[in-house]
Amino acid sequence: MKEYYGGIEAGGTKFVCVIANGPDDILTEERFPTTNPAETIQKTILFFQRAVEKYKIRLTSLGVGSFGPIDLHNSSKSFGFITTTPKKGWENTDLIHPIKKSLGIPIAFDTDVNVAAIGEGKWGAAQNLNNFLYFTIGTGIGGGAIIDGKPLHGLIHPEMGHIRISQDKSLDPYHGKCPFHPNCFEGLASGPAMEERWGQPAELLEEDHPAWNLESDYIAQALSNFICTFSPMKIILGGGVMQKKFLYPMIHKKAQEYLNYYVQSEIILSRISDYIVPPGLGNQAGMLGAIALAQSI
Ligand code: ADP
Ligand code: ZN
Repeated sequence: MKEYYGGIEAGGTKFVCVIANGPDDILTEERFPTTNPAETIQKTILFFQRAVEKYKIRLTSLGVGSFGPIDLHNSSKSFGFITTTPKKGWENTDLIHPIKKSLGIPIAFDTDVNVAAIGEGKWGAAQNLNNFLYFTIGTGIGGGAIIDGKPLHGLIHPEMGHIRISQDKSLDPYHGKCPFHPNCFEGLASGPAMEERWGQPAELLEEDHPAWNLESDYIAQALSNFICTFSPMKIILGGGVMQKKFLYPMIHKKAQEYLNYYVQSEIILSRISDYIVPPGLGNQAGMLGAIALAQSI
């Protein structure tokens, strides 16, 4: 009986479930929309139970990367819960225990962005790097940090999408999309913030639209702050908005301008396109990261 690992990319918009041993050995995967917790968790469990029967395999362990905020503290009563999320119906949802009870295998749990970072470290753009950051710029903005080879948790876990951004209200009078902060990174630069500000979804905004000058400015501001705080060896930018490939050179130029030659590193000063990069695993970073996390148990 062949052994496989299971992975779940639990997103606010969709869940991706996968059974694989790595990028070159993906047995099966399924995507479905994130509806209410009971239905979504049930679908997840059924996917794994049915696949085990159908393919006559054994699942060794499961890795889960989830939207949040989530409780990652093993000793806490609400370990494995999605906690104070703004996503309606998902506040205080026990994600891990029902799955563990049904499948009966060890489960590892982390933030969606830490998990994507783990995947990029194992098979993607950050192989052999001990310190790097992974961001998603999509429905929300989040950052995962691998520090000395390990995902950073700290007090709760980093919320890099909610740092304050300097906003020139005469250029951008938009009030921000975050219910908690008037001018945080996510509130100003997420896909839904772009859509609300400009009256059309980000994917429809042409390259010469002023939206992109503003967007790349906000992203570069945030990254220059994170470069000064974490000293990452690389920064990976994923998520739906980053499908606009012309954003990368705009961000490179502005990040260099904000840093203003202060961080004396050759890769930032003369090869910044090797430093702020797209995910090596493309849109599979999250699901393959979940497999890499399962393999780390
Ligand atoms: P999620 O955050 O739910 O995982 P995505 O990362 O795909 O999903 O992010 C969705 C957001 O990205 C939406 O706000 C959407 O408008 C935006 N988006 C999706 N595709 C593109 C694109 N090609 N160009 C710009 N923005 C996009
Ligand atoms: Zn915020």
